[in-house]
Amino acid sequence: MDVRSLRRGILNWYQKHKRDLPWRQSRDPYRIWISEIMLQQTRVAAVIPYYERFLARFPDVGTLAASPEQELLAAWAGLGYYARARNLQRAAKKIQELGGFPGDHASIRELPGVGDYTAAAIGSIAFNLRHGALDGNAARVLSRLIAERGNVDSGVVRKRLQASVDRLIDPRRPGEFNQALMELGATVCLPKQPHCPQCPWAGECQALRLGIQDELPLKAGRPDAVGVEKQLLMIERAGKILAWQRPSESRRLAGFWELPETDQLPGAKIESRVAGFRHTIVNTNYRIAVFRASLARTPKGFHWLTTKKLSEIPLSTTAKKALACLTK
Ligand code: SF4
Repeated sequence: MDVRSLRRGILNWYQKHKRDLPWRQSRDPYRIWISEIMLQQTRVAAVIPYYERFLARFPDVGTLAASPEQELLAAWAGLGYYARARNLQRAAKKIQELGGFPGDHASIRELPGVGDYTAAAIGSIAFNLRHGALDGNAARVLSRLIAERGNVDSGVVRKRLQASVDRLIDPRRPGEFNQALMELGATVCLPKQPHCPQCPWAGECQALRLGIQDELPLKAGRPDAVGVEKQLLMIERAGKILAWQRPSESRRLAGFWELPETDQLPGAKIESRVAGFRHTIVNTNYRIAVFRASLARTPKGFHWLTTKKLSEIPLSTTAKKALACLTK
């Protein structure tokens, strides 16, 4: 493989075809870091509206470190995987203790919520550090480029792919190279039916040469999705809605507010069905029905909140969707 020609090819392609994404306007480590954390497990299109809003509200490490957690969770609500928001704040406090954003790979990697991939992405883009960033897109491109036939989720294969990207990465433009590789995976080397005629690496791609690009990368099978039914209650009194807050030790969505479910309030009187919708979290498909109901007494642990208050606190996505049904 001609490493230099691969570098040249992908960097030229990136210059011409890269998407204009808001976090690509800056090399400020704070802004890069926020974008990389948001992009963990979340699609680019979903992150874009959150990114600018988040930076307007938390423009620097100091503001992020000092903000109340409820405000942070409210700004993050809808992006999912809320441990990321809490880790951001823990990391912001650590960055303050360090006296500024760390500029070496090991120290970036030690920040809460930062793994190998994220440390490599931040370090290469903000500080020109030569570490290959191996996200799902980059792993797919590389597994096809070298016709890797092992399971890409296994530790052994990840190591092989990491070695490949560390060898290929352009030492003079590591940040651009990492972004170019991920962009190629996101826009050309797609999981199904990659657009090989548009690919700058088509001439060197082993999978294309062997005609097995649609079969790679190989992955271990995922468990089947589970279906769960839920009934939410919309109970109103004097313009306020009944809600409860998940405890801080809750395994999921700690600190978030929810609408009550039928089995929490057996004394509630169901009046009518308002709406139904679906919601998917990781491997669980929820079918959610929303009912109007009434209640004689306020149960312990529940609170009456105005819609204005509900818009200011961290609210679970299912509660948000249920409330949106009311205004339709
Ligand atoms: S030639 Fe096709 S399979 Fe190979 S890296 Fe390019 S897009 Fe992916």
